[in-house]
Amino acid sequence: MNTPNINPASKDPVIVIGAGMGGLAAAMSLAAKKIPVILLERHATPGGKMRQLYVAGQAIDSGPTVFTMRWVFQNLFAQAGLKLEEHLTLDKADLLARHSWHGSESLDLFANLGQSMQAISEFAGDAEADNYQRFARKTETVFNTLDNSFMRAQRPNPIALSLQGGLRGMIDMANTQPFVSLWNSLAKDFQDPRLRQLFARYATYCGSSPFKAPATLMLIAHVEKAGVWMVQGGMHALARTLADTVVSMGGDIRYESGVRRLAIDHKRITGVELENGEVINASAVIFNGDTQALSKGLLGHEASVACSQRTEPSLSAVTRCQYATTSGYELAHHTVFFGDDYADEFDKIFEKSDMTDNPTVYVCAQDRSGSANTKVEQGQYERLFSLVNAPAHPMSEAERTEAVEKMQQTLTTQGLEIDDEQGKSIVTGPGQFGRLFPASDGALYGRPTHGWMGSFKRPGSKSQIQGLYLCGGSVHPGAGVPMATLSGQLAAQRLCKDWRIDQ
Ligand SMILES: Cc1cc2nc3c(=O)[nH]c(=O)nc-3n(C[C@H](O)[C@H](O)[C@H](O)COP(=O)(O)OP(=O)(O)OC[C@H]3O[C@@H](n4cnc5c(N)ncnc54)[C@H](O)[C@@H]3O)c2cc1C
Repeated sequence: MNTPNINPASKDPVIVIGAGMGGLAAAMSLAAKKIPVILLERHATPGGKMRQLYVAGQAIDSGPTVFTMRWVFQNLFAQAGLKLEEHLTLDKADLLARHSWHGSESLDLFANLGQSMQAISEFAGDAEADNYQRFARKTETVFNTLDNSFMRAQRPNPIALSLQGGLRGMIDMANTQPFVSLWNSLAKDFQDPRLRQLFARYATYCGSSPFKAPATLMLIAHVEKAGVWMVQGGMHALARTLADTVVSMGGDIRYESGVRRLAIDHKRITGVELENGEVINASAVIFNGDTQALSKGLLGHEASVACSQRTEPSLSAVTRCQYATTSGYELAHHTVFFGDDYADEFDKIFEKSDMTDNPTVYVCAQDRSGSANTKVEQGQYERLFSLVNAPAHPMSEAERTEAVEKMQQTLTTQGLEIDDEQGKSIVTGPGQFGRLFPASDGALYGRPTHGWMGSFKRPGSKSQIQGLYLCGGSVHPGAGVPMATLSGQLAAQRLCKDWRIDQ
């Protein structure tokens, strides 16, 4: 007879380390099951990468800005007997994003398929609009194939996944195109190189290069088409809402409580030691930090066997928050200014640990609504967040300045002038990200999804140490706000299964 891994009668709480999206979701799932939980977070606020910075007194989202897969959060709340909409106000965006090339060529993509087809037809001709319709159908099929079987499931292996649905399942799995790169697959889907570049960019949502990522990642195009929402109060409000909900359900959250060591006895977790020396006993621990922190021994030598070290880092970024006026280009809430040479952009980052001269820049104009004709008054200050992808290694001050100059150069060349005469901007580079998220080296998305096995190499929710579970962007099903949230739920589910608590 199988015995439960941990004594469910233990009076000690479950400790969740880290109040990122994964840790918050795990804590909420456990609290919903009335399992005593303490969430320990090193920083003073919840959210982890979902952080806000203040520029000229304005709170600016300076981590994730694109909210998708609303159903993940609706399910999380529903499992706790709550309604997401009663806790958070979400407005669906009509316009997914504006895309710009050379300053003179612009394409808006919409949540509505017909509107996008119309826009693509005007931008690149009727044949490309038809290609988009086919592409949209294909990405939906890929998403549906992997939604339940992969994303919402405990980490499957590729063989089990293929065999799951018999012959039909094998055909469906082959149609997700795991053996073709996203870039090569898009070359067949679209004739216009700008459209290939636009849809290839989705690989960066999980920190990967479209030249190395499997075509399977095209499913992200469907995720966006299925809905992008604007969170009232900004993305950080989502993290705060989850934290408030954990507390309202009886969970205990302790900020400024970094964990420096996992207490392990005979390969079984017994508690944690805080940076101030306090020891807290635990019946189980869920770790939400980057798994590299465990494998590199940052939480003690004994914990280093919890999971294997990764060999390749995902993308990092250089980001800039500004409170400024803009002119010369009408920004949408989400605008992407594409660089000229995408192959060089990713080759430089992943092969040469460098940045191309003319990088693609993403700008989030946080005071603009989610409609195509959103505007701000001329001369009005607005909250801006800009991002360029960068290699995951610390940059010198000079390198970071150069990266910002390149970012600015792309924007200026494409007609956008940003005037922050107050001189107030906050720049964050890979080195700072590395310090905020220890052992990540600034890699913001854990392991990149490169090659057909890329999605299967992330650790699952159960570690090699008894009673230690894992969640977050470096764990299955991967990075991104909804994925990290799913990983937290999966870790809680796994623990409940081991404890034989009804799911
Ligand atoms: C600039 C940027 C832009 C992004 N854009 C998007 C986007 O638009 N859409 C999207 O879906 N995703 C986006 N992402 C990715 C997304 O933000 C992340 O994948 C997700 O938020 C990660 O959540 P997580 O659960 O891994 O936790 P993290 O955010 O990594 O947080 C982990 C937490 O654990 C804490 N911690 C770690 N170790 C310890 C310890 N020893 N003791 C105590 N606490 C500890 C950390 O302080 C941190 O708060 C972006 C990320 C960044 C950085």
